[in-house]
This record gives sequence, C-alpha cells and structure tokens, in this order.
Amino acid sequence: DGSFPYAISPPDKLLGGLLPDGLDEGSCRSRYESSMYRRNPARKPPPRLVAKLRKHEELQRRCGPNTDAYSRAVQQLRAGEGAESPECKYVVSISYRGLGNRILAAASAFLYAVLTDRVLLVDPSNEMDELFCEPFPGTTWLLPRDFPLASSFTNFSIDTAESYGNMLKNKVLRTDAPGTTRPPPFAYLHLDHDYGDEDKMFFCDDDQRVLSRVQWLVMRTDLYTVPGLFLVTAFQEELDALFPERDAVFHHLARYLFHPSNHVWGLVTRYYRAYLAQADLRLGIQVRNFDPRLAQSPLVLQQITSCVWTQKLLPEVLAATEELVPVTGAKSTAVLITSLRSWYYERIKGLYWDRATATGEDVGVHQPSHEGQQQFGKRSHDGRAWAEMYLLSLCDVLVTSGWSTFGYVAQGLGGVRPWVLHKPSNLTAAPDPPCFRDVSMEPCFHSPHVYDCKLKRGADTGKMVPHVRHCEDISWGLKLV
Ligand code: GDP
Repeated sequence: DGSFPYAISPPDKLLGGLLPDGLDEGSCRSRYESSMYRRNPARKPPPRLVAKLRKHEELQRRCGPNTDAYSRAVQQLRAGEGAESPECKYVVSISYRGLGNRILAAASAFLYAVLTDRVLLVDPSNEMDELFCEPFPGTTWLLPRDFPLASSFTNFSIDTAESYGNMLKNKVLRTDAPGTTRPPPFAYLHLDHDYGDEDKMFFCDDDQRVLSRVQWLVMRTDLYTVPGLFLVTAFQEELDALFPERDAVFHHLARYLFHPSNHVWGLVTRYYRAYLAQADLRLGIQVRNFDPRLAQSPLVLQQITSCVWTQKLLPEVLAATEELVPVTGAKSTAVLITSLRSWYYERIKGLYWDRATATGEDVGVHQPSHEGQQQFGKRSHDGRAWAEMYLLSLCDVLVTSGWSTFGYVAQGLGGVRPWVLHKPSNLTAAPDPPCFRDVSMEPCFHSPHVYDCKLKRGADTGKMVPHVRHCEDISWGLKLV
C-alpha cells in the first residue's frame, strides 16, 4: 500500500535463519533493518545451507584470529614448514580492483572455504574493513595486519613461484603422487582474469586433492568463480544439498556475508526514504560505460529508452505537441539511475519533465552521485558505490549494464532477474535489440577454464552440466541457471 517502512509485517530479521543470532544489533543496523526496506521476497534459505553456515561459524570462531590454533598456524607459516595434518586450514582472500569485483571475489572465496572446511580471512585493504559488518559472530573475518605474508601478497602475480600453477610446472607439487612430498607452507591461488592453464587446474579434482593438504591458501581473484566450483566433481554432492536452487547461490551468499556498515547504511536509508519509498514502483537503471567515448552518447541514451519502452518498464512519453490527458490515481514510478556521470540522468529526467506520459503516470528520476570516474582507495567513493549497489538491490525492477560486476551484485542481493543492456560493440549504432532478460540473477564467471579434467583435454565447460551455461552478456563466460 505504499506506506513505509513498516508495511512488511512481521519483518523477518534473521532472513529465515540465514543470519546467525546473537550479533550486536547496534554495531550493524543494516543486518536487522534491511528486511524492512526490501519488497521483493527473498528466496528461502535451504535448511542444509543454514546448518552448514552455523557449523562454519563455529570453525571460524575456533580457528580464527586471536585463538591458539591461529597462532600455531601462523608460527608454522613463519617457520616456512608445511604441516602434515593441521588442525585448522585457511583461505586468505586478497582484496583488489573495483568493489563489485571485490564482493564477488570474497563470496567465491567464502564458498570455497565452506566446501573445504577452511577458515576464510579477508584482506582488510581497500576499505574492506570499513564498508562491511563482520559476518561471523564472536570472531573476525579480517586478516590481522601482522599476517606474515601481508606485505608481499599485494605483489603476488602469475609469476609468483609459490603459485599453484608454477608449483605444478616446476614439479614442487604433483597430482600423480600427491602424498610423497611434504606440503608447502602455503600456496598462492592465482585465479585472476589473466591466469594460465596450470593455474586453472584449480578447477580439477586431482588438484583439489593436492591443495587439500596445504594449510594456507592465498587466493587472488577478480572473478565470480562459483560456477567453476560446480564443475569439480568432489564438490557436487554437497553443492546440490546446499543449493537446491542453483540460480540463488550468490543471492544467499551475498545476503549472508555483505551487510553495509552503519555509515553506508545511513547513505542507503536516507536516500531510499527521501526519493524511493513513496513510489508505487522502483525501477533501477545501472549505466556503466566501459568505453569513455560512450559517457555521453545519444546512441546509448536511445538504447536505454528503447529497452525500457519496448519492455514496458516505463511509460512512453507523448510527442511535445500532444495534449495532456489528466489521469487521477495513476501509479507513480521512481527511477534510480546509478552511473559515474550525470549525462544520462539529466536527459532521462528532462524527457519526463518536458513531456507527459502516455498513461498519465508520474515518473521521478533520481541519481545519488556522479563520481566522474572510477577511483581507488578513497573512502567516500567506495562507500557511495556500495550504497548505490545496495539501493539498486532495493528496486522492484532492474536494468543493468552487461559485463558489470557492479550490476551483478545488485541483482543478486535484490533477488531480481534483470534486463541487461548489451555492451555496445561500436560507436555508430545502438545494439539491436537493446537489452535482454537474463536467464538468472546469478553473476557471470568471466574467465572460466576450458578443460575437461577427466579426459585431460580442452572442452566447452558451458556444456558439461545442465545448470552451468554460457552467459548472454559474455559469450565465453559461465553462469548458474
Ligand atoms: P565493474 O567494473 O562495473 O565490474 O564494477 P566494479 O564495482 O568492480 O568497479 C567499478 C567501480 O567504479 C565501482 O566499484 C565504483 O567505485 C565505480 N563505479 C562504477 N559505476 C558506479 C556508479 O554507478 N556509482 C558509483 N558511485 N560508483 C561507480
């Protein structure tokens, strides 16, 4: 009925058991208040997932920072010795690149940690410590700043000798004789978009068996590697049990892990109440121009309006000369535009001010910020980006930009299957059709392996199991459906 914010009753504070009880509410308001702002019903968390999360939280508490087990594991690493059968094993997720990439990377590392009974520790750099609340009760998910490898792992790359790929190449680790050598103290998992064939062996069963003996894994990825985990046979049974709905994996992971800190939550809620709450419908449009020449492009503007009009997401406008037909009781729509620049926002807003809509509906157009360009390591910039992703996720309907992890995070958090604007392939013609309806709300895994681990030869990984398919925005990518 439009009344807000207490229209949804009773608010399901713990999201159907997805969230643990017993965390301090005041230190993380978003965790408990978000259900009052969301209108789209969330997918119900599967009972097996809930049980597994509670077990995993226990592991994080038992082995996490400030425990004896953690001190022993760090000592072992400092001594440069691999432990034969360590009591606790770890995966450290390096945080780098844009916020969308960082969120997808942390979610991927977390699922891998859950599947392999490892503690997840997130590198706190790039504001990862300031943007999010702690997800696990009674412990921290942030890697302590005095972690022995902390100063060197920022430079870890495809060439690092301790990378899994290079250790395979140099026969420091072998899949044909996994138990014959002492495991190294740590292995660096280079799962970055530029990774090589040996690094990609990560997605094979034999290699997972080798890695399971290594106490510390340091992972660098800017990718949503989860569809790749669904191709590892050893993980499949558990994944089936944890996620009977394969299109909701990131949805559950994101709602479990990523809660805006109080500062960011203030940005989200103030904006939502002021500009979005009263509307009957909230349409989010995420405009991401990867090519700077398209920052102010009439063609892209035409692509956006043609998408929202042909898909009937917004009412069309009358020609400037047409008479206005007054309509009482017509519904109102609020459009939330997020973009680094304000050009598209100004055009679309102007359009709905200058002209009447064919249906008599009112359309308000809003854009929280226009930061100009992507920036790195600036606190207010990342906070705004996170707030805008979150605001998009509170919309009823989404139009996103293909290729963008920023949009993927919003759609997954929101539980919304978006309309996706095709990435323009040239500067002279708008893509036709302008957009497509995505098959699922899952993010796309942009650079998957193309290898059949059993047959040991190249293969199309988009054709191995029915629920891992190629993405429509990036044809070689993989997504869960
Ligand atoms: P991707 O590059 O689109 O995959 O998304 P990322 O989030 O990984 O990186 C883009 C970064 O640029 C974001 O993290 C923001 O810092 C910035 N950015 C891109 N689009 C927007 C936007 O609409 N609003 C804001 N505030 N920042 C944005």
